[in-house]
Amino acid sequence: MIIVLKKNTNPEEVQKLIADIESMGNIKANTIVGEQSNVIGLVGDTTRLNEDDIAANEIVESVKRVQEPYKMANRKFHPDDTVIEVPSVNGPVRIGGDRFQIIAGPCSVESAEQITEVAKAVKQSGANLLRGGAFKPRTSPYAFQGLHSQGIRLLLKAKEETGLPIVTEIMSPAHLPLFEEVDVIQVGARNMQNFELLKELGSVKKPILLKRGLANTLEELLMSAEYIMASGNPNVILCERGIRTFETATRNTLDLSAIPMLKRASHLPVIVDPSHACGLAWMVEPMAKAAAAVGADGLIIEVHNNPQKALCDGKQSITPAAFDSLVRTVRPFVELNGKTL
Ligand code: PEP
Ligand code: MN
Repeated sequence: MIIVLKKNTNPEEVQKLIADIESMGNIKANTIVGEQSNVIGLVGDTTRLNEDDIAANEIVESVKRVQEPYKMANRKFHPDDTVIEVPSVNGPVRIGGDRFQIIAGPCSVESAEQITEVAKAVKQSGANLLRGGAFKPRTSPYAFQGLHSQGIRLLLKAKEETGLPIVTEIMSPAHLPLFEEVDVIQVGARNMQNFELLKELGSVKKPILLKRGLANTLEELLMSAEYIMASGNPNVILCERGIRTFETATRNTLDLSAIPMLKRASHLPVIVDPSHACGLAWMVEPMAKAAAAVGADGLIIEVHNNPQKALCDGKQSITPAAFDSLVRTVRPFVELNGKTL
């Protein structure tokens, strides 16, 4: 971090600022005296420093951070890819590294028949994890809100029948006891910056699928991952699911550049959700191919056995037959990147 001081600062005040900063931890301040202004260069662990707090000081002209504010999620401190293991009856499902994993299932769990039928079909086509929302974050309070604990019970039944580990979204820390047998806990886009929820998930040792918020930067996404990791849970999977732009032809805009950028900045696995990104069933396959081509570690895809009758997100849900074809057409793009599906 670089602190530029105002002209003619009182040396005693400068010393006091340096002492305050150095008392914050393992930080060393080096002062450079120039003709026009004086500069303090900080080296060491600056993660606990806040630029705005320092800039609020009377003698400070400007502050510039030169190192990322996240540490545990940072590839600089962990050069190798993190591979997250999701236990399953058929052996661990590995996410990250040279593996490419597909999570598939309906937007929401609607009935025992629906979730079990979809689970069997997507497993047959090559999905290794089953998704399904039990707690649904809906824009309208009058829309279907999910089956809640009953939805989780139905997911567990589908898991029992297929052996697929399950992925489902949590919306409140108060619901954590219901997630005891859930294999991967999803934090949805709307809760990416629910910091109390993120801290609670730090005390859980299960993998967390953290989705990017509707209007959040990649640094903000990584800071949210840092919340979970700094609270004790290193098992975070990042998910790009489209962001809000001025474009209205698609539900969101899939930020493909986020994938190589996140993979460069962080060692955590990065998966892509083309379903919520484009909002159109016919566009899921081309965007899934694109995601695989730019280096994603996997996909999360909405599949419904009767999209026209889906209680949530039918327009973007693909049929089991379309999913089967998607897995086959995505494979060459996965292999292009030296990964195996
Ligand atoms: C979902 O996965 O069903 C979902 C609600 O996703 P997002 O949080 O990305 O909107
Ligand atoms: Mn959905």
